[in-house]
Amino acid sequence: MDNPPADVVVIGAGLAGLCAALEARARGASVLVLERAPEEEAGGNSRFTAGAFRCVYDGVEDLRTLMPDLSDEEVSKSDFGTYTEEKFFDDMGRVTEYRTDPDLCEILIKKSKETMLWMRDKGVRFMPIWGRQAYKIGGMFKFWGGLTVEAVGGGPGLVESLTNAAKKNGIEVWYSARATGLIADDEGVKGVRVKRGGKTVEVRAKSVVLAAGGFQSNPEWRARYLGPGWELAKVRGTRFNTGDVIRMALDAGAAPAGNWSGCHAVAWERNAPEFGDLAVGDQFQKHSYPWGVYINAQGRRFVDEGADFRNYTYAKYGRVVLAQPLQFAWQIFDAKVKAQLRDEYKIRQVTKVTANTLEELCAKLEDTDGKAALEELKAYNAAVRQDVPFNPNVKDGRGTQGLAIPKSNWANTLDTPPFEAYAVTCGITFTFGGLRINTDAQVLSTDGEPIPGLYAAGELVGGIFYFNYPGGTGLTNGAVFGRIAGASAAGA
Ligand SMILES: Cc1cc2nc3c(=O)[nH]c(=O)nc-3n(C[C@H](O)[C@H](O)[C@H](O)COP(=O)(O)OP(=O)(O)OC[C@H]3O[C@@H](n4cnc5c(N)ncnc54)[C@H](O)[C@@H]3O)c2cc1C
Repeated sequence: MDNPPADVVVIGAGLAGLCAALEARARGASVLVLERAPEEEAGGNSRFTAGAFRCVYDGVEDLRTLMPDLSDEEVSKSDFGTYTEEKFFDDMGRVTEYRTDPDLCEILIKKSKETMLWMRDKGVRFMPIWGRQAYKIGGMFKFWGGLTVEAVGGGPGLVESLTNAAKKNGIEVWYSARATGLIADDEGVKGVRVKRGGKTVEVRAKSVVLAAGGFQSNPEWRARYLGPGWELAKVRGTRFNTGDVIRMALDAGAAPAGNWSGCHAVAWERNAPEFGDLAVGDQFQKHSYPWGVYINAQGRRFVDEGADFRNYTYAKYGRVVLAQPLQFAWQIFDAKVKAQLRDEYKIRQVTKVTANTLEELCAKLEDTDGKAALEELKAYNAAVRQDVPFNPNVKDGRGTQGLAIPKSNWANTLDTPPFEAYAVTCGITFTFGGLRINTDAQVLSTDGEPIPGLYAAGELVGGIFYFNYPGGTGLTNGAVFGRIAGASAAGA
């Protein structure tokens, strides 16, 4: 043994790991967190987020409890609606095609509200997502899509608050410390092998929590499990989630679970770097496609841009873009919707073409059949129903008629210059396949029994998300199951 033992060792200092560490510590355990990244790059995918959390609230009073700074004036100008347990269940069921593990899903939903309050008590501050999840209509902000709350300071603010809380509570964090294997025998897991400062050491523990993210940053595993072509996707977040810890758990007899060929992937700036850039965060994403039209390199539309609210389609459309020739597409808008485009369209690092006519625009689209694109855009324009008013707040039914690929809502003719086109490719966020856990976050073996001393939470757990994902659920998942894993590990 190279180091004094800890009661609980947590692998990964993202949201799931920090929540596990804080909960285990609150129950009296000594806790050591191992984080592979150097301190300046730590925080995992959690740090790259905007900090948006999907959680249950039964009305404005719940939101006021969570966000006591909300003023009467802000409340009077906002229609927050509700996001009940039933709605959250409906969303999870529908987008996962009813594959989500019912027991885990129930815990995710039922514990979402209390876990938000718990994070607030640990120092995280929350606010309504005025900018991205509400439209101002007649002086009122109307929230939509069940996603209403974000952490102040986004992902960086979230990680900073929880890291400070961890340090204040006597939790030790080792940075640049990569877990390379589990120490286990017939009685279960007894510790972790860690590479730190070029040296491999053993850390013994009564229990180990795995919270080291998915395998999205490993191109070889992407091609192996997600399928051919996935090695060509860009990674939206941290470069450190390479599936190491999933592999070491499988080696120790853990069972795989969930949608191993599935992942969360979005439209992402075509010329973005291979991995996420903390200075840009999530701003390479391009999520305003419901207000425009997609065109591929052959000049063809290929997806219903208005099938549903953005936060119910964005996580599956990255895959659709990846499947296009040259793995890219253009999002095309006219001046009518310019003010509605999200902030991420205003950054410097965009691949953008502007023109005063559709003819000129199509001729400028690099790597694209401009003639076919022009024909396609004209056919689209002619198919837009003009008898239904445009309303971004509801699925307005203003669709197209007679097209092989319809646009079901929010269809507007592209008729007002200047026209803009943004080039996007596929950005992978996280993988859906992972380890099998039970409702106490114990990792199950391939024989179906809990592996003594081994717990898991967050992205590396399988069985919760399949095919698609309701926006803002990844953070809630990390926090809810992180806490449960920490509590179980401390009680082991
Ligand atoms: C750009 C972007 C935007 C997003 N926006 C949102 C959003 O607004 N709302 C939302 O709900 N979700 C969002 N997500 C998804 C969300 O980030 C994840 O679902 C969630 O943060 C996962 O938390 P985690 O703790 O499981 O993983 P992570 O936060 O990724 O933490 C895993 C940690 O483990 C470490 N690690 C990996 N291997 C090892 C090892 N061998 N040894 C030691 N440490 C290791 C990593 O360095 C990392 O710090 C977004 C993701 C991205 C990339």
